[in-house]
Amino acid sequence: MNIRADIPSSSPTLPPELRAWLGKERHLLIDGKWVPARSGKTFEVTDPATGEVIAKVAEGDKADVDLAVKAARRAFESGPWSKMSPSARGRLLHKIGDLILEHADELAALEAIDNGKPKNVAKAADVTLSADMFHYMSGWATKIEGKSIPISALAAPGSDFFSVTRPEPIGVVGQIIPWNFPLLMAAWKLAPALTTGCTVVLKIAEETPLSALRLGELLLEAGLPDGVVNIIAGFGETAGAALAGHPDVNKVAFTGSTEVGKLIVKAASHDLKRVSLELGGKSPNIILPDADLSLAIPGANAAIFFNHGQCCNAGSRLFVHRSIFDKVVDGIAAEASKIKLGHGLSEGTEMGPLVSSVQYERVNGYIAAGRDEGAKEIVCGGDVPNGKGYFVAPRILTDVNPSMKVVREEIFGPVLVATPFDEIDDALIAEANNSVYGLAAGVWGKDTGRAQQVAHKLRAGTVWVNCYHVFDAALPFGGYKQSGWGREMGQAVLSNYLETKAITTRLGSN
Ligand code: ADP
Repeated sequence: MNIRADIPSSSPTLPPELRAWLGKERHLLIDGKWVPARSGKTFEVTDPATGEVIAKVAEGDKADVDLAVKAARRAFESGPWSKMSPSARGRLLHKIGDLILEHADELAALEAIDNGKPKNVAKAADVTLSADMFHYMSGWATKIEGKSIPISALAAPGSDFFSVTRPEPIGVVGQIIPWNFPLLMAAWKLAPALTTGCTVVLKIAEETPLSALRLGELLLEAGLPDGVVNIIAGFGETAGAALAGHPDVNKVAFTGSTEVGKLIVKAASHDLKRVSLELGGKSPNIILPDADLSLAIPGANAAIFFNHGQCCNAGSRLFVHRSIFDKVVDGIAAEASKIKLGHGLSEGTEMGPLVSSVQYERVNGYIAAGRDEGAKEIVCGGDVPNGKGYFVAPRILTDVNPSMKVVREEIFGPVLVATPFDEIDDALIAEANNSVYGLAAGVWGKDTGRAQQVAHKLRAGTVWVNCYHVFDAALPFGGYKQSGWGREMGQAVLSNYLETKAITTRLGSN
């Protein structure tokens, strides 16, 4: 079983308009204008399938973040945005969703050359879900309501009060996003913040700035007023840290590693900024003895190998009933061996490279650590051909135990650890929950009542039963334990961007 690889030396099917767009230095979006970094610095963006430089992007730092925050503050306090009706805000968000769909091909191609993922996957998943997030959130703009509340404590005989709550936008929001779903993470962050009436400074990932910069152009095309969304490309320790600790930012919304999430909390603590975090995971995926294996095997394969394992919610710890363990592991290995690796723009590619040399080294380091600790390694599909791309073949590690690094830590690559279990009991649940993370989980079984019982006991923000990776703009997503604070998407995300004010009025006494 060999992996078929197709790694062109350049990006052959890139449309000419996109080539022209990439040929120009890309700038930062501050106060409605595209501007170079104050320092004049730029950084190079590479195609992870070829190692070739494909674009030059302005490298924002503290000085640019300061300007962006000032612009966002102005737009929040006094610009047309602050006076826009909820209905007009909703229409604008809807238009942004429409523009994303109109530019689906181009955005998917940018994801392919920048992140490495296959273009068809980016189009079907990343782009579609991004548009959906704006469309879904556009409906909330007119439905952010308070309550009238009858009060008792101070309502002495003869006095009369009227109390209401009024949800208000939190203000200027700093948002920091990772590289695994560059466009989608921008959409998950921007759409709810805009729905609530906040203004934003968005720090995009240094590995993958392109699609979010193109989205910035679409935001302006949709008619978003100046300064409402400002986009800073740049590095975490400079631009990211400046944003997370900025004294005029009211709230920081972060998606990324748990390690950096903890730094964000520290940076935001000096003035007690609001913080929401969507962090790492090491999600258990449990196959019960009665599972329909025609669903569970491809499902477990996709749970770990979708997006090359670079998903915070990847089903990376597989638990399979001993009676079917070998069959399931062999089945996943056979499925994974058929995955076609290649350039994200090449026809038929199902899995691209990892995003960067750093990730390549990191994931290979984990694979080596697994071997050293005595895990048995199944390489699905054989060796990856030579070349500059950061390709890693899918791996399944068996003979693992809970103390191993590969079982405890998030690898963020195409590496599955698989363990058999004997009973559906507390020991199984305890082992599935034996992680500092609690982002997602999967359960597979024909007896859905029993699968639900297991689902209820799992300490995770999302549990999929007989499916995996099912996302929807209407469903809240986020983590228990060290997987984060707060929820993305659904009605739940609105609270990330709102303060609640209680207003009590004395109506007079009689
Ligand atoms: P990953 O490990 O997936 O690369 P990170 O958590 O390192 O994810 O990065 C996610 C985002 O956080 C990126 O936009 C990155 O630039 C940013 N970042 C990294 N370090 C910091 C930091 N110290 N302060 C603020 N943002 C940071």
